[in-house]
Amino acid sequence: MSSDLLQLSAAQAAAAIRAGEIDATELFAFYRARAAADQLNAFTWVAEAAATAAPAGAPLAGVPVAVKDLFCTEGVPSQSGSRILEGYRPPYTATVVRRLAAAGAPLLGKTNQDEFAMGSSNENSAYGPVLNPWDRTRVPGGSSGGSAAAVAAGLAPWALGTDTGGSIRQPAAFSGIVGLKPTYGACSRYGMIAFASSLDQAGPLTRDVTDAALLLRHMVGRDANDSTSLELPEEIRLPRRGELHGVRLGVPEELTGSAGGIDSGVRASFEAALAQAQALGASIETCTLPHAPHALSAYYIIAPAEASANLARFDGVRYGLRVAGDTDLDTMYSRTRAQGFGAEVKRRIMLGTYALSSGYYDAYYGTAQRVRTRISEDFRTAFSAVDFIVTPTAPTTAFELGAKSHDPLAMYLNDFCTVPMSLAGIPAISIPCGLSDGLPVGLQLAGPAFSENALLDVAYAIEQALGFDGRPALSAGGAA
Ligand code: GLN
Repeated sequence: MSSDLLQLSAAQAAAAIRAGEIDATELFAFYRARAAADQLNAFTWVAEAAATAAPAGAPLAGVPVAVKDLFCTEGVPSQSGSRILEGYRPPYTATVVRRLAAAGAPLLGKTNQDEFAMGSSNENSAYGPVLNPWDRTRVPGGSSGGSAAAVAAGLAPWALGTDTGGSIRQPAAFSGIVGLKPTYGACSRYGMIAFASSLDQAGPLTRDVTDAALLLRHMVGRDANDSTSLELPEEIRLPRRGELHGVRLGVPEELTGSAGGIDSGVRASFEAALAQAQALGASIETCTLPHAPHALSAYYIIAPAEASANLARFDGVRYGLRVAGDTDLDTMYSRTRAQGFGAEVKRRIMLGTYALSSGYYDAYYGTAQRVRTRISEDFRTAFSAVDFIVTPTAPTTAFELGAKSHDPLAMYLNDFCTVPMSLAGIPAISIPCGLSDGLPVGLQLAGPAFSENALLDVAYAIEQALGFDGRPALSAGGAA
């Protein structure tokens, strides 16, 4: 029975529970045992049992969800991967986690991540790195690395992550699963420990596209506690089996040419996926996003600027770590921040504070905002000629632990293809499109704001045609 449960996608498990073929309590216990035996360092906390039974007839039927550490969960450790929030147990639960529980997906556990979601490898975590279940000498990607590894290794049916510049899509690509960053505002940010508020979005990490649609459907919508959240123009529905006749896929030269440093194995899988899409009737066209090569530079001003403001609240007074400073408050603040924050977070706070300082503000932050506007315009123009943009999700497959941790620029370049969509606030999905030297490659598809249903349809058609069997050898998955 156990191995049968592992075969089921989350949507299939929900259907089996509703049909009375399996029991929600049994499913929870099955995943709970796997998560508790985690050898990948994917989980930071595992629930004993479902906090509440799924309401009768609940659409998600009791299929539990793993949640990135930075989602506040009442009474449960929520540290955003940081020492500075050591011991913090929030008095409230993030809106998306609450909505999922109400729809019948109880909390299975919290997952490891880069500190404050800053990173692309999950190596910047106070809990230590996460191992990639495909090859434990490699990173799972980041910053939602724990969520990605947990789903890939069958330690959780599905998981929540957040994406500010690629943190759902890139770990999904490195771990051979599906990751969707919705339109900015689709999901409430209430209760998400903030990194860069104008970019942060919650989204699903799942085994397949259908699961991504199902989970997203129960996350979205306006929330009075987040003034940037909105009602979507239509309900998220399950993807429809479709052909791609008449669908125009645009390959942007700027992201797929030599500047992106796409390695040959990734390029081969990407091209094979495009050929499949063409066989389904899509037309593949070259398109242009003239300002996209400047997206990373703009992002590394805007995101640190917002982070420097958001992280000012961690001072040892209100929550988490406090390092006593004799009798003097200033010393307490600075000792707490010096010991509580890791090196990458300190680097971003300093970059952001510098970029916002008077005299430099317009030169750096002002310019970056103007570039951001141009990038949004580029996408709008491109979407008048093509329906979706396609790129590899990341230029490489999962790299070795430690390979880039001493070279921040090399690490940042991993986000070359994902950051433009974040700056434009548009939805983008990564689906597995093959293996290169035994490691998964991700295909990214992006569409106009609020095109989630159409994007999921196209991703589903390509997923079905590719037939990727999305699992590492589960004996190497880290669980019993
Ligand atoms: N890797 C990027 C960064 O470090 C993106 C992170 C994210 O999306 N949270 O900023």
